[in-house]
Amino acid sequence: MITQTTDIRYLKGIGEKRAELFNKLGVFSVGDLLRCLPRGYEDRTDIRDICDAEEGESVCVRASLASGIRSFRARTGARVIQARASDGTGIINLTWFNAPYVEKTLRSDESFTFFGRITKRGVLPEMINPVIEPSSAAGDKMGKIVPIYPCTAGLTQHNIRAAVKSALNSLEEPVSEIIPEKIREEYGLIPTDTAIRIIHEPQSFDDFENARRTLAFEEFLVLQTGVAAAKQGRGDRTAPIISNVKCIAEFAESLPFKLTNAQKRVINEIAADIRRSTPMNRLVQGDVGSGKTIVAAAVMYAAAQEGYASVLMAPTEVLASQHFGNMKKLFEPLGIKTAYLAGSQKAAERSENIRLIESGEARVVVGTHALICGSVNIPRLALAITDEQHRFGVRQRTRLSGDGRVHTLVMTATPIPRTLSLILYGDLDISVIDELPPGRQPISTIAIGEGMRKKAEQFVLKKLDEGRQAYFICPLVEESEVIDANAVEVYLDELKRGAYKNRRIAALHGKMKPSEKEQIMREFSEGRLEAIVATTVVEVGVDVPNATVMVIENAERFGLSQLHQLRGRVGRGSHKSYCILICKTHGEAATERMKIMCETNDGFKISEKDLEIRGPGEFLGTRQHGLPSMKAGNLKYDMQILREAHEAAFEILKNDPELALEENKNLRLRINDDIDSIGGVLN
Ligand code: ADP
Ligand code: MG
Repeated sequence: MITQTTDIRYLKGIGEKRAELFNKLGVFSVGDLLRCLPRGYEDRTDIRDICDAEEGESVCVRASLASGIRSFRARTGARVIQARASDGTGIINLTWFNAPYVEKTLRSDESFTFFGRITKRGVLPEMINPVIEPSSAAGDKMGKIVPIYPCTAGLTQHNIRAAVKSALNSLEEPVSEIIPEKIREEYGLIPTDTAIRIIHEPQSFDDFENARRTLAFEEFLVLQTGVAAAKQGRGDRTAPIISNVKCIAEFAESLPFKLTNAQKRVINEIAADIRRSTPMNRLVQGDVGSGKTIVAAAVMYAAAQEGYASVLMAPTEVLASQHFGNMKKLFEPLGIKTAYLAGSQKAAERSENIRLIESGEARVVVGTHALICGSVNIPRLALAITDEQHRFGVRQRTRLSGDGRVHTLVMTATPIPRTLSLILYGDLDISVIDELPPGRQPISTIAIGEGMRKKAEQFVLKKLDEGRQAYFICPLVEESEVIDANAVEVYLDELKRGAYKNRRIAALHGKMKPSEKEQIMREFSEGRLEAIVATTVVEVGVDVPNATVMVIENAERFGLSQLHQLRGRVGRGSHKSYCILICKTHGEAATERMKIMCETNDGFKISEKDLEIRGPGEFLGTRQHGLPSMKAGNLKYDMQILREAHEAAFEILKNDPELALEENKNLRLRINDDIDSIGGVLN
């Protein structure tokens, strides 16, 4: 019998191997799987004549091969398959990268449906990596709305869709209701089970909206009740008092630069907090490059001087290891031991670090969030700092403050606009580093279309010849089942075939081993590579001051905050830096976003706009797996849901402060589920 708690291993079609891949996504049970929501949809109901297919559109065409199949290895090593197809109204070029199954499927005596985004090469339309289905197969790939799930290496869209389908078909109970019935009725929501089914298998976009509203409400309700309950529970908890904050001044003296006034002010605010036994609960907002790391270090120094330990957590290993390098350099000369925990560590190294931590020798512990929150026991822990680098949502913050027996500090480069922070945090203290270290030159940003590409290339080449370095960012290809590795290969191949022939450019993508990634990063930071090509899946969280050019391809597909983060990778040294946004389409919304990017370098302004455009659900990333966001510009709509959830949370807690009633049981379980890595707020 399949229930929500059944291990996904037992689902039809999922074996041990695939189950392990799902586990990496945080999906263990059937219930987890069903709550792994699509991040978008592909409308594969639109079947078009080739002559009517416009550039930039994603459509299906029905066609037969009009040429032989060409298969060769590109300079980058990628396996390329090319063919031409015709439907009697026109001819289309088809290109696949690293898709061996295509060669087996394509035949000249059959017709196929191809789904993909139309691009242009020369005069003919082209699809890169189109989805393919033989017309005779009448399978379930075409003619419907298809969900797109957030992927990880190893799992394809097809794998996830098949698993979800299997779960929906075999589940022998309705998906449990987290929203208490009274609240559901009061706010006009639909049953969760219905909503979940609609979200995974929408028949039309009409019935989609209410499902989305219900699931968004549920997310916000868990979040809001969690925050409110945490606040309630924090009241009588205490954290260690760190009274000797004067020593921070000595620490500042030991630095090679002078702290900015904004940094000093924020350090003072934090120092005032940690001198009290009430646990600090503070958010530090500061734009990319404003110098948040050193603020964290200063506070950790004070804790260490008083014999307490601190942890600094980052969302990714790349960032964590960068932080560790910095902390080691800062602290070891001052006689303070540091330790590091990372997933890629060898067993011996890991156990040595754990020994350092658990014996209390290491006062400063750095690592990824997951590792530190795991099973390691840190004696005399007084301070927990997370560097969100905009990756963590508010959810993790609740987690962190969950325990409430340490001072917590969250650093973020995505400023939360006031409108939101008031609803979300209420009692949370916020410090702002609103000043950049001196000597930074503003980054010049331009947005261009295809017509200017040649000019831009010449400009980039000139900068490379001057000895500077560049980043090229391409977006994920969403239309087909391609992971970022493919998108990067495709793009690198294009660059190498074009203006950047004979240049030292390397790819960086999620499929590479950590050691390979590190190698590329190192070559780049030592200047042996002129440029790297990546998607945002790989965080280019590296600090390479000599890199002064950021080229973002299909910039219209990125959100504002994301563009701003990417741009923040340049402008870190003494040379003038540039950001080139290359746009394919010229929709109104895209134009508006590009205009904002070109006009301002101010992260606050950008995040206000971003929130306005995307709405809080997506902006906050309340759920790691992503809330579906079908419509851009639904701020008013989502803010309304958030307000309602806020109201509902207080209504629930007022009647049942401990969430002890049966009707609130599922809500309590879900909240504790979210914070159990640190210890629940509610028991
Ligand atoms: P972010 O806020 O993006 O995390 P970092 O902490 O990484 O920024 O700092 C960016 C760079 O600026 C680092 O190389 C850091 O050493 C440097 N830096 C930080 N504070 C100052 C300062 N007051 N004066 C000069 N350089 C600084
Ligand atoms: Mg940082």
